[in-house]
Amino acid sequence: MTSCLGYGAREAYGALAPMHFERRALRPDDVAIDIAFCGVCHSDAHQVNNDWNNTAYPCVPGHEITGHVTAVGPEVTRFKVGDRVAVGCLVDSCLHCGPCGDGEEQLCEQGPTATYNGRDRQTGETTLGGYADHIVVREPFVLRVPDSLDPLCAAPLLCAGITVWNPLRRYEVGTGTKIAVIGLGGLGHLAVKLGVALGAKVTVITTSPGKVDDALKLGAHHVLLSSDVKAMQGAANAFDFILDTIPQRHNTNPYLMLLGRNGKLVVVGAIDLLEPVHGGLLIRNNRTLAGSLIGGVRATQELLDFCAEHRVLPECERVEMGAINEAFARMQKNDVKYRFVIDMETLREAAAR
Ligand code: NAP
Ligand code: ZN
Repeated sequence: MTSCLGYGAREAYGALAPMHFERRALRPDDVAIDIAFCGVCHSDAHQVNNDWNNTAYPCVPGHEITGHVTAVGPEVTRFKVGDRVAVGCLVDSCLHCGPCGDGEEQLCEQGPTATYNGRDRQTGETTLGGYADHIVVREPFVLRVPDSLDPLCAAPLLCAGITVWNPLRRYEVGTGTKIAVIGLGGLGHLAVKLGVALGAKVTVITTSPGKVDDALKLGAHHVLLSSDVKAMQGAANAFDFILDTIPQRHNTNPYLMLLGRNGKLVVVGAIDLLEPVHGGLLIRNNRTLAGSLIGGVRATQELLDFCAEHRVLPECERVEMGAINEAFARMQKNDVKYRFVIDMETLREAAAR
C-alpha cells in the first residue's frame, strides 16, 4: 500500500477538502502513475452532489488524468518507469465478454470499473479518482500520451474528448456531414474542434449569446441561439447528426425537428428523464434518437493520436487544487472556457494551508 494525498467530498454537496487514503500495492499487471494534471468534468460535480443517487463517500473525483509512470508490476510489458501516460473513466473490466472483445470496455457485460465511485474487482472497495497525487491502474487501461501533446491540454481528451469522438466516429461524421453541437462546454467545444478536423460542417446551438464569437473562433461555421425561435425554425431538417451535451433534464423535440432524412440525435449529457419525445417527429424523416457512453481504451488511444497529429487541443483553464471548489461553482454556473484542468503541482501546498 502507498499513502496518497487527494481532494474529496465526505457528503453530497460537501466542499472538496484534502484527504489521505491508501492506494493498493502493485498487482502483477499494475502501473503506478504520478498525476500531473486532472481535468474537471461536469460528471465530477454530478457524482459529488449525488445527482445519480449512487455516490459512495468519501468521493474523490477525477477521470481526465495525465502523468508519468513511477513503477510497474512484473507482468507489465507495454510501459516502463518515466513513460508519459493517461487514464480516463475506466480502470478495469472483465476483458472477456463481447463488448470488451470489441474494445468497448465501457459496455462490459459484467459492468466496467469506473475510475471513481467504481468497485474494485478484487477487493470490492470503492475506487478513488484523479484529484490526487498518484493512482494505481491495471495495464490494459493505461494510455500513452504522444510526445507532441502537452499533458495539461491532453487531460480533457480522456473523458470529454472520447465521449464526443465515439459517436462522431460511430455515425461516420466526415467530409461534408452537416452536424450540430448543442451546448458549448467541455464536451461541446471538443465536438466542434473534432467535427471540423473530420471535415464536417459544424453548427453550434447555444443558450449563451456571449459564446457566439468563441464558437466561430473554435472553427464552427454557424451558430444558432436556441432562444431564437425563428432561427431554430429556419434550421428545420438541416442536420445529419446532432450531439446533445446539455447536462440537465430538457425537451429534445425542438432539436429533433432540426434533423434531416435519416438524421441522428445523440444524447450524452442528461441522464434525467427527458421531456416526452414526439413520436411524429421521430417517424418523419426516419429520425433516430440515441445515446452514447464515453468510449473504450482503443478508441481513446486513437483519439489521443488523432489530436497529436491534427493539432486538436482543448481550451483549458489551469486551476490550482486549492481553488477546486470555486471551479466547481463556476462550472455549474456555466462559467468555464472550456475546461478546468487541475495542476497537481499545487496539491501539496493547498493541502498544507
Ligand atoms: P459543461 O462544461 O458544463 O457544458 C455543458 C454545456 O451545456 C454548457 O456549457 C451550456 O452550453 C449548456 N447548458 C448548461 N446548462 C444548460 C441548460 N439548462 N439548458 C441548455 N443548455 C445548457 O459540461 P460537460 O463537462 O461538457 O458535460 C456535459 C454533460 O455530459 C454532463 O451532464 C456530463 O455529466 C455528461 N457526460 C456524459 C458522458 C457520457 O459518457 N455520456 C461523459 C462525460 C460527461 P451553452 O452555454 O453553449 O448553452
Ligand atoms: Zn467526465
